[in-house]
Order: sequence, then C-alpha cells, then structure tokens
Amino acid sequence: APLAQHGAVAVIGLGRFGGSLASELAAHGVDVIGIDIDEAVVAHYAETLAFVSRADSTDEAVLRQLGIDEVSRVVIAIGSDLEASILTASKILKIGNRHIWAKAISQTHAEILDQLGIENVIRPDNDMGRRLAHLIRGHMSDFLPISDDFVLARTTPPTRFSDSPLGSFDLRGTYGVTVVAFRRSGDEHWDIADQDVTLYAEDEMLIAGTPRKVEDFSAFDK
Ligand code: ADP
Repeated sequence: APLAQHGAVAVIGLGRFGGSLASELAAHGVDVIGIDIDEAVVAHYAETLAFVSRADSTDEAVLRQLGIDEVSRVVIAIGSDLEASILTASKILKIGNRHIWAKAISQTHAEILDQLGIENVIRPDNDMGRRLAHLIRGHMSDFLPISDDFVLARTTPPTRFSDSPLGSFDLRGTYGVTVVAFRRSGDEHWDIADQDVTLYAEDEMLIAGTPRKVEDFSAFDK
C-alpha cells in the first residue's frame, strides 16, 4: 500500500469540494491519498498531494490495494454520482475503516449514507448557505454551527453592555446565550470573556447557544 500509515487521509473524488479539501489538508502537512476516476483530475493533483491514483473507488480490490483499511480517515467527496458515492461508502465499511466523512448533495443522499452507518455525513452546500444567510443579514460577522442545536457566532455587544461588567447581566437566564470570548476594537487578539469584563459597542464578541437564541441576541439592540 502506498501510504498505509496512520495519519494519512484518503480523499475520494477530487472535484471542487474534494480537491480543495485535499489541497488544504496537504498544505497543513497531512499525507493525502487522492483518488479519482478521471485521469485529468488525477494529473492535476499529482504535484500537490503525497499520493494520487486514478481508480474507480467502487472497486473493492482497488480500495484494498490503496490501503484504505489503514488510513486514519477517509473522505468520500463524490457528490453528483449517487450510486458511486453509496457503493464506495459500503465497500469502505465492508473493508473495515469506520472513520469516514461523506459528502451528501441531497437529503435522501444524506439519509442513505447515515443508514449505511457513515459516522460523519456532511452537506457543504447547506452548511455554507446557512452560514451565509447570517452573514448577509449583517448582524453577525461569523456563524459556526457546531451541531443542530448549538452554534458559535461573532457579533458586536449591545450598547447597554457598556454600563456594567458581563457578570451583572444574567445572560444565560435572560437571553439563553453565553459570551465565550471578546476582542477590543483595534486589537488583534481575542480573550476569554470573564464575568468582570465590560464590553463596549465597538468591541467584538463570540457568543454560544442555540441558533435561535444566538440569532435573537445578535439582532437585539443594534
Ligand atoms: P464537486 O461538486 O465537489 O465538484 P462532484 O460530485 O461533481 O463534486 O465530483 C466528484 C469527483 O468524483 C469527480 O472528479 C469525479 O471524477 C469523481 N468520481 C466520480 N465517480 C468516481 C468513482 N467511482 N471513483 C473515483 N472517483 C469518482
């Protein structure tokens, strides 16, 4: 097997999503095994990734040869070819690697991958859309869903915060959010938000809570 050591990540399908993911991992020093059925795509990533292979990932023998059972994580980044995505997922599960991240392009696709037993099913288009909706509305400068009911958002403090330290507002009780960190206007670095910190309208803060509470709080008093 080409790179059958721990720490290596196999990325199957080097399309727009898989390709940029693989390049980003490689840029961070990860040994990436890139697999794609298209010769031109494979050639394009030959220099960037530690190892590339032109192969059909629905072929179990090929997957075994590439050492898929030994890599620490596998990303199935095939989207539009539903059949190829599902066959690849089932073959990898059969071979015995369970550390799989798979991209889904529809709700049905996501459900099937989930039913097969894929640990991490991702919907990049949806996640990006959700995030962008918040950024475009303008009251958050970043929005990071951690799970369906927990998010982190970067926003500015309500003006009334400048009256007193954070600890004097019952933020969790009143708004259902927690201020995690803050950054003073003009500063580079972020600090953990202690109860005795007073925040001003031109500062920034990182808040955590349910999407609904975080949205309401971010839109509040602005
Ligand atoms: P994106 O939207 O991220 O570009 P696509 O689904 O369009 O995603 O692209 C997925 C990539 O997966 C393509 O480069 C395609 O050649 C590759 N691919 C499709 N089927 C297979 C397969 N059976 N084995 C390996 N690679 C595949």
